[in-house]
Amino acid sequence: EVQPDRLQIAKAYVQEVYESIQARNPGELEFHQAAKEIFDSLVPVFAKHPKYMESGILERISEPERLITFRVPWVDDQGKVRVNRGFRVQYSSAIGPYKGGIRFHPSVNASIIKFLGFEQIFKNALTGQPIGGGKGGSDFDPKGKSDGEIMRFTQSFMTELCKYIGPDVDVPAGDIGVGAREIGYMFGQYKRIRGGYEAGVLTGKGVGYGGSLGRTEATGYGVVYFVEEMLKDKGLSLKGQTVVVSGSGNVSIYAMEKAMQLGASVLACSDSNGYIYDRRGIDLATVKRLKEVERKRIRDYVLEHPHAEYHEGCAGIWSIPCDIALPCATQNELDDRSAKTLVANGVKAVAEGANMPSTLEAIEVFLEHGILFGPGKAANAGGVSVSALEMAQNSMRLSWTFEEVDAKLHQIMASIYQSSMKAAREYGHPGNLVVGSNIAGFLKVADAMMVQGII
Ligand code: GLU
Repeated sequence: EVQPDRLQIAKAYVQEVYESIQARNPGELEFHQAAKEIFDSLVPVFAKHPKYMESGILERISEPERLITFRVPWVDDQGKVRVNRGFRVQYSSAIGPYKGGIRFHPSVNASIIKFLGFEQIFKNALTGQPIGGGKGGSDFDPKGKSDGEIMRFTQSFMTELCKYIGPDVDVPAGDIGVGAREIGYMFGQYKRIRGGYEAGVLTGKGVGYGGSLGRTEATGYGVVYFVEEMLKDKGLSLKGQTVVVSGSGNVSIYAMEKAMQLGASVLACSDSNGYIYDRRGIDLATVKRLKEVERKRIRDYVLEHPHAEYHEGCAGIWSIPCDIALPCATQNELDDRSAKTLVANGVKAVAEGANMPSTLEAIEVFLEHGILFGPGKAANAGGVSVSALEMAQNSMRLSWTFEEVDAKLHQIMASIYQSSMKAAREYGHPGNLVVGSNIAGFLKVADAMMVQGII
């Protein structure tokens, strides 16, 4: 039992560090938001174990080991010179090489990269794999760009990034706007500059040149495996449940696929322009072709399925009544209003496939109403978990079958659920997976930092 005065001291400590973060990183709202969620979860840890406070773990862990910003010049199809900004945050190497995706999206800035990188530390620790936390990206907008433009931009990005990465140093992968095509161009450029075949420098590679089977599906499948665990604890399953999934990228597509395989019916998905609602159940083959092959918009779905509806705007997707909601698009796509609508419509479980898709107020709404809530750090950790498995296969110079990888992914997701539940229980918030996942991830990294000296 933790004494109340100790709790007060821990609260004051966390508040003080949080305010210093706000002062040191002015205007970086997404970063503040991610920090607030994690910091508040950690109060019971500092109350129970003042040693982490005394050695300044929170002050140290919230300042990146390194933040690299660089120029990315390239030439568009009209021959015009263009310049974008590149980022890599190397946040924590306490338990392994920096690991985390690269995002190409016009919204990318230091705040976005830092929030993603900070969350990645705890997510990666939670997977049980030996990987530190990092993230990168650029404000480059891939929308409407030709294949040649994508290649030239991506090569220029890597020409600078390659100075800072390596299989034992920092291992990037994909994120929004970066998929198999971009990873291929990045790997080709890295290899050309290095003059050696360092397969483990990137993950999410094609299976023909060092990639892992199951990596493409991993994040989406993992989200649904996580939901399965949450439901199982309540004596429920996915069979016959209605599901709404936002987004139509890599995470969303494979979350839909696994949900369908397990007997759920998926009613809606979206892109950054709007959402489709198909009460007969989404036809996944159409979505896959439109988004993965033709790189078109989701509204084109209704041309082939005229009985389905298309609606402009994204937030409206949360007004569709469903048993399970899976936000798999982007940060802050689900606010308290949408959360209240979902609750009013009887949602049973929410799990985050995207990073920080729910606002702090939305999370509050779900927790207050006792809705099963799987935070991104836990629920979407399947992607980076299989990235770690890809690194392991690269080191061993062998490759596992799809079934082997999928079985390992399934087991990792179940153990993330268990360790998050256990931490939540031990620290006085039974059933709260936000608190549980933050604490479980934090303790692993903090303990490594405790024995490595003041670094
Ligand atoms: N971008 C994904 C994430 O947020 C995957 C990162 C990786 O595989 O390194 O976890």
